[in-house]
Amino acid sequence: MSVTAPVPVLPYRGRFAPSPTGLLHAGSLTTAVGSYLEAKRHGGEWWLRMEDLDPPREMAGAADAILRTLQAFGFEWDGELVYQHDRHELYRAALAQLVAQGDAYGCACTRKEIAAAGHHGADGMVYPGTCRHGVAPGRSARAWRLRVDDSRTAFHDRLQGEYGQHLQSEIGDFVLLRADGFWAYQLAVVVDDIAQGMTDIVRGADLLVSTPRQLWLRQKLGGPAVTHCHLPLMVNAAGEKLSKQTLAPAIDAWSAAAELRQALTRLGHAPPAEAGDVAELWQWARGNWQLARVPAGPIVIA
Ligand code: GLU
Repeated sequence: MSVTAPVPVLPYRGRFAPSPTGLLHAGSLTTAVGSYLEAKRHGGEWWLRMEDLDPPREMAGAADAILRTLQAFGFEWDGELVYQHDRHELYRAALAQLVAQGDAYGCACTRKEIAAAGHHGADGMVYPGTCRHGVAPGRSARAWRLRVDDSRTAFHDRLQGEYGQHLQSEIGDFVLLRADGFWAYQLAVVVDDIAQGMTDIVRGADLLVSTPRQLWLRQKLGGPAVTHCHLPLMVNAAGEKLSKQTLAPAIDAWSAAAELRQALTRLGHAPPAEAGDVAELWQWARGNWQLARVPAGPIVIA
């Protein structure tokens, strides 16, 4: 399988890509709603991809529960539902391409060594580049990293505006294949977005910090341009991102209409009281969705 195999050029293809580390909560549901409506508003497709590449962090049964919840809310997805755990061959091919191009290299450093030699950057410790020119004699590669440079990698986000990073000094050469043998999120997400022909990426603002890395990798893999739109971050009263770790309650599909109404409200939309059930809410939302109404965030969910 080649990562850059030609895919049909579509006017718009977006996706929702949950990680089954927990059940859907108010934050992830709102992101799904925003990405869905943005795709529909463009007459585009909306695909679903299960990002199940990190077994230690996953919750048994979460992938199926997420699908059931999305179905109960009336989401309809296009294309083939893919699971990242089926796609190792594609990730291996991408890494092989990057190694052959001289863009990826093996790294022997431990987390402790990086903490001692690096400094804090935009997203954790900046890799100091120790193994850039080869692994020290007597040591062996544990992880694989992508070489970056210090030019500014920037893009225009459709909601958040201009965003960029000097990757080398703010992030460092970043991991593609982890020391524990699992594929890094950054590699898998870009390989899949390219292979699946995604044109427009709409997701939560917690991933904004990853986007310059993903654009850099996309370019190294020869992927076509995409647009990005990062929806507002949903935080709890303490300002923490809603997640399993911050004990965000799971969405209750039995009260789907109320949950959908809330998600639309958070996204700056005010469905009329007459839109009482899920079907009516979707119908109203599909006709009235405007990205310009969505706040850049963050949004506090009590
Ligand atoms: N799987 C990622 C998450 O649940 C989202 C990836 C993406 O949308 O790019 O946070």
